[in-house]
Amino acid sequence: MKKAIALYSGGMDSALAVQKMKSDYQIIGAFFNVGQPGVDYQLASARRLATWQDIHLEVFDLSSLKNNFLGLADKNQISMSVGNTINCPFGIFGLASTYAISRRANALVAGVHKDDLTVSQHAGQFLKNVAEDASKLHNIEFEMCLPFLNTSKADVIRYGIEINFPLGYTRSCSESNEHHCGSCDECKKRKIAFSTAGVNDPTQYAE
Ligand SMILES: [Zn+2]
Repeated sequence: MKKAIALYSGGMDSALAVQKMKSDYQIIGAFFNVGQPGVDYQLASARRLATWQDIHLEVFDLSSLKNNFLGLADKNQISMSVGNTINCPFGIFGLASTYAISRRANALVAGVHKDDLTVSQHAGQFLKNVAEDASKLHNIEFEMCLPFLNTSKADVIRYGIEINFPLGYTRSCSESNEHHCGSCDECKKRKIAFSTAGVNDPTQYAE
């Protein structure tokens, strides 16, 4: 069976991307701590999800990176992943690809979905190009596996409901509180997606 590294953020998109691809690949999960806000709760969720999915999760502690990024973007964002205002897909995706290739994995699985691309239309193609170039460079079979690239977040949720996935384990919030704050950008996107999907939102929001 082919091997893949899968990015976990603690959220539903990444965990459901793993669920969708786990019959095709032998998957190892990877969580990147780059000092993002709410990271402890995100990691706790990622670990709960990976355990439920029977996926081994590795944690990359790059938390000091935030010291190099804070103050360079609005709202204390650390621009290391797709979907941030300043989009830097080289960040986590570059590191994770390098790790995947070093482990002789054939793919990097990630939960990038259609709504993420509203920030940058080019992110999906960019990531696919990176994988294609890496394949040529190293003369190996390697691809970016983005099963939700043409799927909205609401449809990702519908898929989760359809397969009875524990969506309540997932964490979107970028605040450091036990419950989802309900008002940060990620919470807003989560609320809207559940409402658009027309299904019950299991999330406990502080407001
Ligand atoms: Zn929040």
